[in-house]
Amino acid sequence: MGLASAWALARRGAAVTVLERFGHVHDRGSHSGHTRVTRQAYHEGSSYVPLIQQADREWLALGQRAGRELLARVGLLLFGPPDDHELLAALETCRACELPYERLVGAQARARWPFTMPDDWLACFDPSGGYLRVGPCLDALAREARDAGARIHHGVAVAGLEHGPTLAVRLADGSRLTADRLVVAAGAWLPSLCPALLPGRLVRQRRILAWTTPAPEHVAALSTIPVWGAFLPDGFFYGFPHGSEGVTGLKLAVHTSKQQPWLQTPVDPDAVDREAHPADLDPLARVLAEHLPIGVGPFTTTHACLYTNSPSMSFVIDRLPGDPRVIVAGAFSGHGFKFAPAIGLHVAGLLLDEDSPLPGLSVRSHEQGPS
Ligand SMILES: Cc1cc2nc3c(=O)[nH]c(=O)nc-3n(C[C@H](O)[C@H](O)[C@H](O)COP(=O)(O)OP(=O)(O)OC[C@H]3O[C@@H](n4cnc5c(N)ncnc54)[C@H](O)[C@@H]3O)c2cc1C
Repeated sequence: MGLASAWALARRGAAVTVLERFGHVHDRGSHSGHTRVTRQAYHEGSSYVPLIQQADREWLALGQRAGRELLARVGLLLFGPPDDHELLAALETCRACELPYERLVGAQARARWPFTMPDDWLACFDPSGGYLRVGPCLDALAREARDAGARIHHGVAVAGLEHGPTLAVRLADGSRLTADRLVVAAGAWLPSLCPALLPGRLVRQRRILAWTTPAPEHVAALSTIPVWGAFLPDGFFYGFPHGSEGVTGLKLAVHTSKQQPWLQTPVDPDAVDREAHPADLDPLARVLAEHLPIGVGPFTTTHACLYTNSPSMSFVIDRLPGDPRVIVAGAFSGHGFKFAPAIGLHVAGLLLDEDSPLPGLSVRSHEQGPS
């Protein structure tokens, strides 16, 4: 989000410096794992759709200018029991936004793809869904930001902000940089840089992304499946077609699970356990065995990744209370990546003192508690 903000600001003529404590694309924060789902059949609410569509247009244009396909539009298949309220919400978003979707029953979905599910389950096929290639997306943003004059520094950690008459950041090496305005998009580290922002209420959580190596005879069939999301009685699981996007294999993960209450446990991003354990992988293996049996195989690669959630699960994009020179952009929880260029454009607008709200999104008060 910081890079997307720099991209948008530099293209509008601002003199931008990006400070990144690690490298250009790394595995310590929230963007690791090579691919991210993009989808318009949004069970989180139809109000996100205009923002996704804006981001989609930007990703496509960035890809065209970069000569690289950033968004693989392989479609999205959601499925689950017919009374699952999140699946029904995704279908309702498609209907309300007049998206070109298909509503299927389990037997119809089984006839088209190698997923298994009861006959009476429901499925929603969203042809506009697919996945974004994280490295190439961030390369394209960085290239255009630099071309517009942004200076991007890696290996430079910000130790703190100084909110005096002159706005400044203190760097880990003891030096200081002043700025007219500041964007803090530090992912899971936002609470350390802005402790007064929703104190104690921005929760960081650990998630494991895993890749299986299925039997070779199933690779061709698994390479043509859409991105998928299963609203199961236990929770929400999702995955990608078999591919070679950074890792060769079949990628899948869990978003929420009643049987894994530790997914809700707050973690410290500097001390989080980055190893995958049987307790992480066994539930994924069970979901594959039950719903995509040809994908079963040994787990050959895993990555740990960090969510940051606000109390209402909404994104936090605002002027910092107490210092309007600082724009914060965080709490993108488990679904922010697809929006990055649209968020960057909005952050640039806020920083340049424009008040235009994000298309379709309302502002919620986090002080009121979960909404
Ligand atoms: C397992 C998992 C799966 C996900 N799946 C999807 C998906 O399918 N689709 C989707 O749209 N989204 C998805 N997301 C969410 C998405 O990846 C995140 O919302 C997004 O990457 C958040 O971006 P960010 O810029 O806030 O954080 P990051 O990408 O972590 O970037 C923050 C950056 O700030 C730097 N930083 C932090 N502190 C400092 C400091 N003090 N000084 C200098 N630099 C600092 C960090 O090094 C980091 O590079 C997923 C997230 C996870 C964890």
